[in-house]
Amino acid sequence: MARFVLPSKTLAFSKRSLLGLISPVPLQLNCSVNCFQNTAKSTIRLRHFLAPEVNLRRKCCPLFPSVSRIKQVKKRLICSVATEDLAKEVQEPKMETPKEIFLKDYKMPDYYFDTVALKFALGEESTIVTSKIYVFPRVEGSSAPLVLDGQDLSLISIQLNGKALKEEDYRLDARHLTILSPPSGRYDLEIVTEIYPQNNTSLEGLYKSSGNFCTQCEAEGFRKITFYQDRPDIMAKYTVRIEADKSLYPVLLSNGNLLEEGDLENGKHYADWEDPFKKPCYLFALVAGQLQSRDDTFTTRSGRKVSLRIWTPADDLPKTAHAMYSLKAAMKWDEDVFGLEYDLDLFNIVAVPDFNMGAMENKSLNIFNSKLVLASPETASDADYAAILGVIGHEYFHNWTGNSLKEGLTVFRDQEFSSDMGSRTVKRVADVSKLRNYQFPQDAGPMAHPVRPHSYIKMDNFYTGKFLSI
Ligand SMILES: [Zn+2]
Repeated sequence: MARFVLPSKTLAFSKRSLLGLISPVPLQLNCSVNCFQNTAKSTIRLRHFLAPEVNLRRKCCPLFPSVSRIKQVKKRLICSVATEDLAKEVQEPKMETPKEIFLKDYKMPDYYFDTVALKFALGEESTIVTSKIYVFPRVEGSSAPLVLDGQDLSLISIQLNGKALKEEDYRLDARHLTILSPPSGRYDLEIVTEIYPQNNTSLEGLYKSSGNFCTQCEAEGFRKITFYQDRPDIMAKYTVRIEADKSLYPVLLSNGNLLEEGDLENGKHYADWEDPFKKPCYLFALVAGQLQSRDDTFTTRSGRKVSLRIWTPADDLPKTAHAMYSLKAAMKWDEDVFGLEYDLDLFNIVAVPDFNMGAMENKSLNIFNSKLVLASPETASDADYAAILGVIGHEYFHNWTGNSLKEGLTVFRDQEFSSDMGSRTVKRVADVSKLRNYQFPQDAGPMAHPVRPHSYIKMDNFYTGKFLSI
C-alpha cells in the first residue's frame, strides 16, 4: 500500500506515516497468517497482540459520537465513501462527474489478460506507449465487448490479431476504450498511445518531476499510461522495454529482472525488463533519470544471491546506509519468522524527493519519498532510524502479502519486525498512540467509513488512516 507522508515532524512515529494504527479482525488475520509457515508462533503472537486493542476499543466506544451524528456529517459532505443507505440520497451525477460505484454491482471481468508487453519511448515532448496484451475470455466462447479504462490518453492506433481496427469497431470516450465485438477465444491486442508525462501534475500514472520519469499506479494510475482493465483482479505477466536519451536518463528501471540493456542510434539506449510473476497493474513501475545507486547483496537461505540497489540523486547517496541495513534485516527476518524467501534476482529501491505517495511497494521496485528513507548520523535521531526500518520493512513485506486487501496483515508484519528488532513494549505504546491520535479522530469525523464500504466515488479517498492501517 502506498503511504502518505504526514505533515508532522515532531515524532518519528508520525514520520512513518500511518503505519500500524490498528489491526484487523482477529479471525481474518488468523486465517491469513495460517497460510504461512511458523503459523503457531505467529498466531499466538497475534492473539497476544490483539487483546489490548480489543479492550481499548471497548473502553473508548463511549467517546464516539452517535451513529446518527456521523451520518449527518456524511450527508453534508457526500465524500467519496458512502454507506448503503446514503447511496439513495446521492444526487444523479452530472456530465463529467465521476459516478458512484457500488460494491453490489461488482462483476467478474469478461476477459483476463495473460501477458502484457509494454514499450515506452520516453521523450521530451511526449512519450509513446505501445502495449501488446494477450487477451482470453473468462468463459470460453464469450464475445462480450471488451471495456478498457483510459484517461488523459491520445489513441494513435489499435490492432487486433495484427489487423488495424476500423473506427466502427471500437468506441472511445473520455474514460474508456471499448472493443465492440471482439472475436470469441484468445486474441492479441496492440494499442499505441501518446501521453504527456511532463504535463502530468496529478502525479498518478507516468509523470516527470525534477528531470526524472516516475510512476505511481495505485490506486488507478495505470489507466493514465495505456488503455487497460485497470482493476486488481486482472493479473498478468509483464515485459517492459524502455527507450530514452542516454545522457538525460542514464538509469532505466522497471519491475522484475533486467534481461538486457544496450545503446541505440541518436544517443539513445534501452533496457528490457521481465517480471516472471503475475501482478495487478497497480504494482507496475517505471523510473528513468539521473540516479546513482548504493549496491549490496543478500544471500537467501536457499543460497541464491540477490542484488540490492538503492537509487537516489547523487547528493543523497551517503544517507542510504541505514536503508540498506533495514532492507537486509527485513529480508532475513521474513525468512526466519515467516519462512518467506525473496523470489527474484534483483531488488531495487528508488528514493526521490518528488514522490507524492510516500512509499509504494511495486514488485521489486519500491519507490519512496526521500524523507522516509534518508538518514545521516549528524541529523537523524534514534526515532528516525526506527521509522526507516519500519517503512522499508513494510514495503518489502508486501512482496508476499501484497494487494490492498492484505494491508492489515502487512502492517501486522511490519509491527512484528520492528518489535523484534527493537523494543516490543515501546513499539506497542507508539502504535496505540497513533491509533488514538489519528484513527479515533478520523472515525469520529467526516472521513469515517466502514472497513468495507458499500460504495465509493473516488478510490483515492480510501487512502485514509483507516485504510492504511486495517
Ligand atoms: Zn502497505
